[in-house]
Amino acid sequence: MLTLETPVQFVKGIGPALAKLLAEKEVATVEDLLLHLPFRYEDRLNPRALNELKPGETASVIGEVRSAALLRTKKMPIFEMTVGQGVQSMKCMWFHGKYLEGRFHAGQMVALFGKVEASRSGRGFKMIQPQFEVLPDGSGDALDRVLEVGRITPVYESLGGSKLASRWIRRTVWNILEELKGGFPETLPGSLPASVLRRLDLVSREQALREVHFPPAGTAMAQLQGAGTAAHRRLIFEELFYLELGLEVKRRKFQEKTGIVFETGEKVRAALREILPFHPTAAQKRALGEIAGDMRRGVPMRRLLQGDVGSGKTIVALQAMLIAIENGHQAALMAPTEILATQHYLSAKRVLEKAQHKYRITLLTGSLDEDRKRAARRRIYEGEADLVIGTHALIEEKVEFAKLGLVVVDEQHRFGVLQRFRLMKKDGAEPDVLVMTATPIPRTLALSLYGDLDLSVLDELPPGRTPIVTRLVADERADEVWDFVRKQVKKGHQAYVVYPVIEGPKDDQPELDFALPDEAPEPEPVKKGAKKAKAGSATEALFPKMPLKSATDMYERLRSKELAGLRVGLLHGRLDADEKEVVMRRFQRGEIDVLIATTVIEVGVDVPNATVMVIEHAERFGLAQLHQLRGRVGRGGAKSYCVLMTGGKISPNAEERLAAMVRTQDGFELAELDLELRGPGEFFGTRQAGLPDFRVANLLRDRKLLELAKVESARFVAKASEESTPEERARVAARLKDTWQRKYGLAEAG
Ligand code: ADP
Ligand code: MG
Repeated sequence: MLTLETPVQFVKGIGPALAKLLAEKEVATVEDLLLHLPFRYEDRLNPRALNELKPGETASVIGEVRSAALLRTKKMPIFEMTVGQGVQSMKCMWFHGKYLEGRFHAGQMVALFGKVEASRSGRGFKMIQPQFEVLPDGSGDALDRVLEVGRITPVYESLGGSKLASRWIRRTVWNILEELKGGFPETLPGSLPASVLRRLDLVSREQALREVHFPPAGTAMAQLQGAGTAAHRRLIFEELFYLELGLEVKRRKFQEKTGIVFETGEKVRAALREILPFHPTAAQKRALGEIAGDMRRGVPMRRLLQGDVGSGKTIVALQAMLIAIENGHQAALMAPTEILATQHYLSAKRVLEKAQHKYRITLLTGSLDEDRKRAARRRIYEGEADLVIGTHALIEEKVEFAKLGLVVVDEQHRFGVLQRFRLMKKDGAEPDVLVMTATPIPRTLALSLYGDLDLSVLDELPPGRTPIVTRLVADERADEVWDFVRKQVKKGHQAYVVYPVIEGPKDDQPELDFALPDEAPEPEPVKKGAKKAKAGSATEALFPKMPLKSATDMYERLRSKELAGLRVGLLHGRLDADEKEVVMRRFQRGEIDVLIATTVIEVGVDVPNATVMVIEHAERFGLAQLHQLRGRVGRGGAKSYCVLMTGGKISPNAEERLAAMVRTQDGFELAELDLELRGPGEFFGTRQAGLPDFRVANLLRDRKLLELAKVESARFVAKASEESTPEERARVAARLKDTWQRKYGLAEAG
């Protein structure tokens, strides 16, 4: 008997070979397959008439093939097809369309989906590169006709080449649903608690899965496309419920743990005051107050300190670390890059030097040589290091602390949730953890996603900042830019010039990681897997890949030509730790005028005398990155500038990013836009941040449901004994454990 847990291999028509293909797409069970939802729907019940189309709209059209042929133009082969409805007709074109040769013949019925454009003659319409599906011609079986036409038809992303594309998925899902009919009791493992179902009036699982694939006639198309039907909402809510439930359980578990009780009496407060180089902003005071409050409690702190670039997170963290140290514990600060760790090390030394009694500070990064690493580890183990600053090495090099009291993780989005968890398990005793991030995650999202963390926000910049002037400049005017840099240096200021890659065209460069793939048009729903490359080359014709200027090449060139006579330095991820430290130190001391760098300086680097940030190939950078880079200037009293240089043709998406940079400096506004342009997966760097890849949910679209899931999961835990039975709780717990282990890879969630 088929159940949701049945491995797909045993589904009729699948077998071991296809199961293997499906496994590559992480489809292992019947349930996985059913949760592969359509990415759009076509209304083939009420298809659009050609004469009612409007140029500019995206539409589904059904018509009869009148003619189809490959035209060989000088530039490229173009496949042309004319599709008709009665006396009306429409032309369709596919560039590099050789792969379509022989696919169509007159008389066939086809469904097309694409953007409608006015044809050149002005009469009628055309579609360029529409998605298409040849409809059954009556020679197939009855099921074909039932599933393909005369209904709202689901369109899927292929699960493996052209074989496992929409048509195959429709049939397979349909057959599964038929076989499962009535076999979906809500008590199956994996459903929602009955109290929640009742309260939110959600449709049953069976109905949801059925209707999300085969919507009943009359379902509003807009609701379907926006994943807003009752069926969608049920499935999305369920996924988010288990995410939030996991976070809630985690949070409660921490509440039961014993943390260190730090005291913050007059002596400690005096020590904190002593190191303050300036008056803290009200936001900094509030944040420190919240942190100190946590540290005094006997429950381990798990707090997220969020603040836009330049809001002054560092000093708050330093003060928190002093609380730990003054209480006789060690504090560790983990930074995402060596450069940043080094900088924190240098500035901690500078700030703490003011204190009469010296704190012992130790740096530990991956590229220190073995001897120095060993020495550092020993000092940490013996308790001779009060403040330990480092990179990933802190969790990778088997560092043992004598008495770790507080861990600060800087720029959390670079680390990922996963590492954070490992760090927390580092020591038997439960140290406090403060996570800092400059990613201005919209507050509701932050609360829901980091539901296991408390949140402090620095929503205020230190006084005296002047807005940064941001300009877009085409490559051709580079000379003016270098002139400007010279002028600023003459005034005693410093500048950064940032490039997307370290050196020439090599592909193993860490700094390349960020490079956004040039936005391709909406992905083909993989009709012709193997022909993908061809479709790509049309994109390339529009946005040709330009050879990238690299930091190393431009360093050589600028210092001997455009910036000759200035003190020019070079900084990138490939330098070893000492070299990085030397360059950073010299730039900080003003011994370097212009620092040529890669994105290694993106986060945290703090040199208030720098007033110019030039970013070459700015179109290649993501919005969050541009914002972070710009945040390197405007940190002192002097007026600062950000110059975004671009060359060649820019994709519309990149254009929007750059325009936003010019328009606003508000990190939250930019984050919202970034989230929209890139989608949550990329925004949070799903891979990097260790965030789950959602199956049906979309964090941007489904924010409301996310909040609802948070409330409901908290309530479920709080009222467990009143609102659920032990059996139900056991089922929910099993599902929770399974979900978190499988999807989020977090072993200790249950
Ligand atoms: P971020 O939040 O981006 O890490 P930093 O902690 O690096 O910001 O602080 C940015 C700059 O502002 C630093 O030069 C820092 O010394 C300075 N700064 C921080 N807080 C204040 C304050 N209250 N008054 C004046 N300058 C401040
Ligand atoms: Mg910082």
